[in-house]
Amino acid sequence: TLLSVLSVFANKMTDPRAERTFIAVKPDGVQRGLIGEIVKRFEQRGYKLVAGKLMWAPKDLLRNHYKDLSDKPFFPGLVEYMSSGPVFAMVWEGKEVVKMGRKMLGATNPLASEPGTIRGDYCIDVGRNICHGSDAVETAQREIALWFKPEELSDYEFASKPWIYE
Ligand code: ADP
Repeated sequence: TLLSVLSVFANKMTDPRAERTFIAVKPDGVQRGLIGEIVKRFEQRGYKLVAGKLMWAPKDLLRNHYKDLSDKPFFPGLVEYMSSGPVFAMVWEGKEVVKMGRKMLGATNPLASEPGTIRGDYCIDVGRNICHGSDAVETAQREIALWFKPEELSDYEFASKPWIYE
């Protein structure tokens, strides 16, 4: 039985359907009433919401979140923008959700985002691009740990799983 518990655990860790990403609706997306629209797209695709909260992020958290960009000229403006109001922070789970999440968001610069993507449908300027998505599985793990406490993540079986996955 110990072995079976371990194997269930190991299975969960390696199940491609258990990949997670950090997605956030930025302050402009919240102010423009786009939380529901963005949540809807991930829900309807078949991804599973594991966590979500409205949060006015402290600047230290934002500086840490964007630390790889700290020497960019737009960094101070980026921190100002991201702390100009609450963001809606989420964790989504499912097969290839990191890569697919980025695709659903569209290119960083909305003018280069295809219509049909979130940015391609709802925004214009790179400094007001309404949403964030982790760019790699390791980045996602770091960002999830930065924005959420472990107990804020809900580990549950999705009732529609057999209707989404073969
Ligand atoms: P992404 O958010 O697509 O992962 P980056 O990590 O390169 O893109 O940049 C983080 C965020 O910084 C972008 O989403 C955007 O809000 C902002 N940003 C990026 N480049 C610029 C720029 N040239 N001018 C203003 N803001 C920018």
